[in-house]
Amino acid sequence: MSHTCSAALIKCMDFRLTKDVHAWMEEKGLVNDCDIISVAGAAKDIAENPQGYVFSLIKLSIELHGIKKVFLMQHRDCGAYGGSAAFSNQSEEFAKHKSEMDKAREIIARQFPNIAVETCLVSPAGKRWKVEII
Ligand SMILES: [Zn+2]
Repeated sequence: MSHTCSAALIKCMDFRLTKDVHAWMEEKGLVNDCDIISVAGAAKDIAENPQGYVFSLIKLSIELHGIKKVFLMQHRDCGAYGGSAAFSNQSEEFAKHKSEMDKAREIIARQFPNIAVETCLVSPAGKRWKVEII
């Protein structure tokens, strides 16, 4: 069995996302082909601690599993950011998550220029959550 995989997904630990993020991974062919790093606030740790724990896991994923891509996945109503209530409107919340992921993307790109980074935002859609590449 191969000990390599194509990507690492940095996602929030929030249990509400599990089913729909898993469905998205199925669609993308990422199940069993992706390291999953599940931590409160997803990219928040990288943005705040450029050489911190989550960053060290990306490094490990590259070294051990030869990943070529990192998915950064933020979500609306994230408790690590005070939930949606911490923002005055949806565009402010979107902008915050986008800026966190852009910051994390830069940090990853600086250290690992050959690793592609895709950024995603997960938003409520009725009773489900919808993943969008942004
Ligand atoms: Zn969260």
